Amino acid sequence: MTMRDESCIFCKIANGDIPSRTIYEDEDFRVILDLAPAVKGHALILPKNHYRNLYEITDDTAAKVLPLAKKMAVHMTERLGCDGFNVIQNNNEVAGQTVFHFHVHLIPRYRDDGQNLVLEAHTMSDEELDAVRDSIAL
Ligand code: 5GP
Ligand code: ZN
Repeated sequence: MTMRDESCIFCKIANGDIPSRTIYEDEDFRVILDLAPAVKGHALILPKNHYRNLYEITDDTAAKVLPLAKKMAVHMTERLGCDGFNVIQNNNEVAGQTVFHFHVHLIPRYRDDGQNLVLEAHTMSDEELDAVRDSIAL
């Protein structure tokens, strides 16, 4: 029995209640094509259980998701002949999350694909960087 949120569209897709273009499925995850792809082959890893985002996933899900992302990236790169790959995961609206069921974007990249995912860089002084490190060191 999966842990679901009845109002969540990705719960319905992940568990097969709403059809999707599935490219991989196992006991814990479904990998589907994104309906509005940034590039050819843009896919999403969805856990079958509902977690709002990275903050909420279990350690078990966390431990399984990166090996799956790797497996899919290797396979998709072989099949699509892409030149590179982005793995992206957004948490909360401010970070670009629009569907509040944890998911990982698998984004094949092609030379001249017209996408630009580069973040704007800022300069910080040594003191500022030291203060940031001190505030978040674990
Ligand atoms: P986010 O912005 O939350 O990280 O990503 C949500 C992604 O889900 C978007 O890329 C969007 O195109 C995709 N998406 C939203 N609704 C659906 C849907 O019903 N089916 C599929 N396959 N993708 C969806
Ligand atoms: Zn859900």
